[in-house]
Amino acid sequence: MEDSPSCGISQIQTATSFVNGVVVSIHDVHPGSQVIVEEILRDLVLVGVTETSLLVVPNWHGKYPISAHPEFLTWVRSKIKSHEVVMHGCFHRRDELKGQRSIIDNVVTKFYTAGEGEFYDTSIEKTKKLIRTGLGYFESSGLKCKGFIAPAWLLGVEALRGLDECGAFLYTVTLRSVICLRRRTCYISQSLCYSTRAAWRRILSIFWNEFLLNTLSENPLIRISLHPPDWKFPAIKRHSLRCIQKAVLMRGRAMPYEVWLNKTKKIKILEYP
Ligand SMILES: [Zn+2]
Repeated sequence: MEDSPSCGISQIQTATSFVNGVVVSIHDVHPGSQVIVEEILRDLVLVGVTETSLLVVPNWHGKYPISAHPEFLTWVRSKIKSHEVVMHGCFHRRDELKGQRSIIDNVVTKFYTAGEGEFYDTSIEKTKKLIRTGLGYFESSGLKCKGFIAPAWLLGVEALRGLDECGAFLYTVTLRSVICLRRRTCYISQSLCYSTRAAWRRILSIFWNEFLLNTLSENPLIRISLHPPDWKFPAIKRHSLRCIQKAVLMRGRAMPYEVWLNKTKKIKILEYP
């Protein structure tokens, strides 16, 4: 592991040029979702994707500590050659905070994320504690990771700072960007993703992702995020696979975030806004 960044998180700059690529990430990978994730990976092969970022939750809702599921770990290890393991939160469940909360906070944490914005407004210290707990599960499972992605991409200002101060990760991502913590560089690219919790959300998701993919046609990096429940709905499954196939045709090979970041390291960023 290289040294952690010594400068403040506010010193991150936005890159104005970066390399082409497609990143397909699968969220919420844990022992309880393994079967459906295996199915997603098989379907991805049919559209030319053999490398993804697998977002593994150290202990999903406190019910699935990865270190207590050897069969799951054997399966994850069998994927490491071509796929990347990313730490995805710690419990993927938000602690209810005591005290008055704003309407916006309640909307974001309950309506938008169904109560799973684990790092939405955690303090620096609480963030570090959660991350250390998550890393403990990874270490006792013999898993290594270079990336951290917060549940629902919700990473508050203090949480980002806590993550940065941990110095354990090369990068994190939000819905709209990939942040290389070590290089202090942010790459703007909004991820496609589907919301499946209600029929109207599923219909809207298809139109939105169609639009988003078209608007990203000039962006070097195309990101597509999948969740296990997506595969329960044939229309979402068909649409996401079609978008992925189109993205791979436009940008070439799909690769994990870590591989893409290593490629960007090789080009010199000449200008910043
Ligand atoms: Zn998640």
